[in-house]
Order: sequence, then C-alpha cells, then structure tokens
Amino acid sequence: MQELIALCQALYYNTNRMNETDLKTNLDQVRQRITAAARRAGRDPGEVTLVAVSKTQPPEVVAAAYRAGQCHLGENRVEEAVPKIAAVKALLGPAEAQSLHWHMVGHLQRRKAQPAIELFDLIHSVDSLRLAERIERMTAGSGRSVPVLLEVNLSGEASKYGFSVSPADGEGGRRAFVGAVAEILRLAQVQVRGLMTMAPIVSDPEETRPIFRALRQLRDALQSRFSRADFSELSMGMTDDFEVAVEEGATMVRVGRAIFGPRR
Ligand SMILES: *Cc1c(COP(=O)(O)O)cnc(C)c1O
Repeated sequence: MQELIALCQALYYNTNRMNETDLKTNLDQVRQRITAAARRAGRDPGEVTLVAVSKTQPPEVVAAAYRAGQCHLGENRVEEAVPKIAAVKALLGPAEAQSLHWHMVGHLQRRKAQPAIELFDLIHSVDSLRLAERIERMTAGSGRSVPVLLEVNLSGEASKYGFSVSPADGEGGRRAFVGAVAEILRLAQVQVRGLMTMAPIVSDPEETRPIFRALRQLRDALQSRFSRADFSELSMGMTDDFEVAVEEGATMVRVGRAIFGPRR
C-alpha cells in the first residue's frame, strides 16, 4: 500500500524535482532580481513579498524551500493544497509550520470556500461578490477576519478570471466593479487588502507593463474613493515578468518556475 501511494505521488507530482542546493540558488537569484528591480524603481525591496508558487511540487520540495528560507508559499488548487499543507506541516514540525504563510493564488470555487478559509492566510483570487458573500456567511459570527485580494481581469482575455475592468468593458465594467467593491467592503469578516491580476502571456515582458501599471492606477483610484479601506497590496508578476511588476509597484510577486524549475 505504501508503495502504491508513493507511486501515485511520483506520477502526480512534478518529476523534475529540485534538490535543496538548486532551490537555494534559485531562491537567492529571484530575491536578488527583486531587489535590483525595486532599486531601479526607487523602491524599498522590503516592500515586496516573494510568494513561491509550489503547485505540482511534492511536500518534500516545499519543506526544502522553507528550510532555504522561503516562508510564503502559494497554491492554486484547494484539492492539491489540503493534503500537501498537512504533509508539509508534518515534515517540518509544529514550530516551523507556524511560520509558514499559505497563499491561495488560483481560482476559488464557491463550494471550496470553507477549506480555503481554513487553510490559507491570504486568498488572492476573490473574483466575485458572490464568493465574498460566501466567505462572509461561512465565518459569520466567528469574529475572525479573512484577508483577501480582489482579482481583476485587465486584459479582457476570456480565459482569465477576475472582475472585468479591461478597456473593452468600458465605463460600465468599471462602474460594476466599483459597486461590487462597495458591497464587499461592507462585509464584516472579509478584509480587503488590495488587488491581484494575471498578465497575458507574451514573449517580451515589457508588454506586460501597461497591465501592471493599470492595476496600480486602479488601486490608487479605489484607495482615494474608499479612503478608509486598505488597498495596500498589489499581487502581480510571475516567473516571466516579476521584475517589470516590481518596477510598477508589486508588493507580492507569485513565482513558480524560476524557483522550482519547469512544470510538466
Ligand atoms: C502558477 C501560477 C503562478 C506562478 O507561475 P510561474 O510562471 O510558474 O511563475 C502565479 N500565479 C498563479 C495564479 C498561478 O497559477
């Protein structure tokens, strides 16, 4: 039975496993690139949190990333995260597990809101009023707060999740989004901390700059409109474009392949 489980895990998880030295090297390089990008933009590199996206990586590799100094980890599917987070905690022990921060970066279905609330320290992907309301209902009366980012689709690509605020959506799209934000800010448990976006896949990272800039400008507009709310976090930038995102104001970059190697 143990062997069967090991075999299933080997098939399910990435076969391109990183060893601990390579992981440390990759993490150091990504951190240096973040620092350099922040300095170029006159920013304090300490404002930028690196979220290592460990989807498809087995628990052993995630534990190794933690031992290499990486405390913020991102997952994109609840089904994958439930057993993996438990396994990582078991590998590291209770004290270390305490200092891990788990980020939900992928699309969250409403029916998986409950386990997501239990598991994650920050949900980057609240993309509808209904999802926010579901989170509110699940935590109603508990007195706990659920920190979230609102995901927006700025490129208009149909394949992307998020509130639609691309130029193609026009003033109407923006008005609908601002209306939804006003509703979400009224919820007692849901704590908005900022915005998240996914840039289109392009060959030249420079092409993503207008998207990242638009996210920051949208944030600035929301912050002045809802002055008592907190829109300080901007989650943007992945392996191919995180330096441009940092130059444009990212406070969280979500990086997978540059740390863990290519996925299958
Ligand atoms: C996979 C994923 C990432 C990381 O992508 P890389 O290109 O491997 O850096 C970031 N954000 C989300 C939402 C993802 O699903």
